[in-house]
Amino acid sequence: MTLWERLYLGEVLRGLATVNAHFVRNLALHIAHAIGFAKARKAMTTVQYPDERKPYAEGYRGSHRLTLRPDSSVRCTACFLCATACPAQCIYIEAGAHPDPAVEKFPLRYEIDTLQCIYCGLCVEACPCDAIRMDTYVHPRVWGFDRKDFIETKQQLMHRSRVLAAEGREGNMREMLQWYDEQSRAVYNPLRPELKTYTERDQPPAWKDDGAGAAPEIPAIDRHHLTGK
Ligand code: SF4
Ligand code: SF4
Repeated sequence: MTLWERLYLGEVLRGLATVNAHFVRNLALHIAHAIGFAKARKAMTTVQYPDERKPYAEGYRGSHRLTLRPDSSVRCTACFLCATACPAQCIYIEAGAHPDPAVEKFPLRYEIDTLQCIYCGLCVEACPCDAIRMDTYVHPRVWGFDRKDFIETKQQLMHRSRVLAAEGREGNMREMLQWYDEQSRAVYNPLRPELKTYTERDQPPAWKDDGAGAAPEIPAIDRHHLTGK
């Protein structure tokens, strides 16, 4: 590197010029739009997610869901292929004997740690019975006060399938925002200091409905805490 390059001054100035050029161009266009000129020229805007959202492509990879049998029980047979394929090792399954002798096993516990998940979709590819999909059209949850808040349980993953079937694409997003609002109000409520994290509070009652042949709800485990990761 030359002395000039090692000073980085030229690159810093070039960066500042680019930022300021965009700023001035957008400011001028927004002012022109406000007074009725240059409507055909688009100015850059920040999408105010989640109030505004861009249209998602058909193949969009959203948060996971566990698909259901016709009787609303979980389709997953706890074969562990998804957990084996997962490069981030963020799927945790505990298998139990299924009450129906025609089905060997089902997951007593099925958890995805979304802090570790890289949304690669290999779990979906690996599943031999179409028991897990990533077509919910919702982003991963981005708020929480505790690492356990980001672990998605079997109940939540099953519930997304019911909402998708009942309400379509917008259903899970609507539920997520509604729950976020409720939890935000509760967590900042000085009259309820016992509610410190999302995890310590009640989950939406619908998540507790595990479907036919399922076990009672098992709380998520914070494996970051156990493994020290
Ligand atoms: S999307 Fe990828 S990283 Fe996430 S749970 Fe599936 S296999 Fe693992
Ligand atoms: S989701 Fe599919 S691959 Fe994963 S344990 Fe269940 S049946 Fe097996």
